[in-house]
Amino acid sequence: MHVIRVNDRVHMVTGTNVNWALVSDGTALTLVDTGYLNDSAALLASITAIGRRPEDVTAILLTHAHLDHIGGVPAMVDRFGTPVLTGAEEARHARREYLEQITPVEMLRLCGHAPSRRWVLDTVRAVFPRIRMSLREVGVVPPNVPLDVPGGLVAVPTPGHTSGHTAYLMPSTGVLFSGDALVTGHPTSRRGEGPQRLPEVFNTSEQGTADAIASLREVPADTLVPGHGGLARGPLSGMVDAALR
Ligand SMILES: [Zn+2]
Repeated sequence: MHVIRVNDRVHMVTGTNVNWALVSDGTALTLVDTGYLNDSAALLASITAIGRRPEDVTAILLTHAHLDHIGGVPAMVDRFGTPVLTGAEEARHARREYLEQITPVEMLRLCGHAPSRRWVLDTVRAVFPRIRMSLREVGVVPPNVPLDVPGGLVAVPTPGHTSGHTAYLMPSTGVLFSGDALVTGHPTSRRGEGPQRLPEVFNTSEQGTADAIASLREVPADTLVPGHGGLARGPLSGMVDAALR
């Protein structure tokens, strides 16, 4: 686990090839995404590392319901009853009314590329033993209005990577939590570091993913906390252009 201070109120944490974020508002916190199941101990440790307690988290916002973003939910919900929220469509995905995720066969195909092979092994370890995880209690957030959660985040619909993918903007600090709509790197990527889409195999709709990135051009943010890759600073419009190139 690696914790980065983004600003006074935001920390980004990297677990197993994936990021989550902690947004502070007084003593209360919003958690954006939760890492893999096997990142659960690291998730709890990251909260302690910034001087807070897990019970200070009063909302969990999910960008989407892939296993590397929902894995830590039970560690919070089972012990602390933390509410879990996401966009309306993604809530259906989280309940596994349907599944949009890389298949085992597609993962095997990635193994021809050495860095991707390492990612596959990391992933198998990180999701074990709950490969079929789903969430029961998921609340729905409305889009494009400040939410009643610490930090006053705003849900930004960004369908494509999954049909209900939702990014979150923190207007008061200009931070965009982009989840997997816009990332800055991934072990399986051949594009190196920098704003980019995830490789096509991970995206439910490639055109949707591109359209979602394009729609972020007007979002008033100058700091990007992505689901994968490092923190990026600078005008979001420049990151959008780089990712669409
Ligand atoms: Zn994903």
